[in-house]
Amino acid sequence: MTKKQFTSAAEEVKEERLLNLFLELAKINGPSTKEQLVAEYLKKALPELGFTIVFDEAHENFNGEVGNLIAWHEGTDASIPPLFFSTHMDTVLPTEGLKPVIKDGVIYSDGTTILGADDRAALAAYLEGIRAVIESGIPHGPIEFVLTVNEQPGLVGAKYMDYSKIKSKAGYIFDSSGDVGQIILKGPYSSRIWLEVEGNAAHIALNADEGNSAFLIAANGLLNMKLGTIDEETLANIGIINGGELTSIIPGSVTVAGEVRSFSKEKLDRQLKHMEEVMQEAARKSGGKVNVRFEKKYSGFDIPKDHILTSTVERSARNIHVNPYLTETLGGADTNILNENGLTCITLGNGFQNIHSFRECISIENLINTGRLTAELIEQWYETHK
Ligand SMILES: [Zn+2]
Repeated sequence: MTKKQFTSAAEEVKEERLLNLFLELAKINGPSTKEQLVAEYLKKALPELGFTIVFDEAHENFNGEVGNLIAWHEGTDASIPPLFFSTHMDTVLPTEGLKPVIKDGVIYSDGTTILGADDRAALAAYLEGIRAVIESGIPHGPIEFVLTVNEQPGLVGAKYMDYSKIKSKAGYIFDSSGDVGQIILKGPYSSRIWLEVEGNAAHIALNADEGNSAFLIAANGLLNMKLGTIDEETLANIGIINGGELTSIIPGSVTVAGEVRSFSKEKLDRQLKHMEEVMQEAARKSGGKVNVRFEKKYSGFDIPKDHILTSTVERSARNIHVNPYLTETLGGADTNILNENGLTCITLGNGFQNIHSFRECISIENLINTGRLTAELIEQWYETHK
């Protein structure tokens, strides 16, 4: 008899089976808004594991192929609060013709496509994790999957999610580059700012004296604008400058756009106001004007260290012999949107690297640990609540 290395469910995670499942899922083409093939796969795979599935109509808002998928498993004990696991079904680029290559325990593509470990690694690990839970025969509460579409361009599927279809209140999202054990408790507020700067257009040879260059106004505004790292919890950037028609025309307008992220809503608002003010000031000095528009991207979240989601994942990580570590991120994720919509969830690392590039990879160890942690979380969630 082999010695029990883990508690029962995580021990049932089969390395070979999970690896093969990941390779199979990675080969299913599903770029943002075109997730139909992934959805078709899950329509078969999830009911086989005992899930009932529904789709929402989110895709109708952005002309996608399919909506967000919400899947429900009763578990063996309905008195336990349901726990959800979430990830996105899309990848950043097509993965057609993907040929995975395994070298020294790390999975890569052959260098001509992305790998799509972001986030097929989580999807594969969830399916194997729940399979392990079922095969181990342990008692467990209801499990829900919240699988979004069109995440990569800006969390769009989650923004249009029909939250009335989700029964759980708490969950986890494995979707970060830290090794398994990474626990992200805090995410930023983020907003875009659009500055439409107006001067006066004129031809350099015909009526140059009437000209007032919007470019020069914008340049003066930008020279006085604090950008980059504003403080330890606030970032600001100008990423778009759009304008001009002909080299002979003094430009009458230009659009300058950027975004701010901060863990503090107050600091976010203060920085946006600063960006508006310096541009208004530059326009005022030279007789131009500025139309300003703000666009909220998402709200921040801050899950307490003593929250049951935090303590459960810390204990679960230790049980599968990985080191739990608490951290925060200024990156945005579905986690921001789900928390904003009344769910409580945290992001967990599953260890993919160089995402959104042809050098994307994930170690087999992180893939397997994601599967084990999924199973262990289900088991520990039950142990905590029974
Ligand atoms: Zn992702």
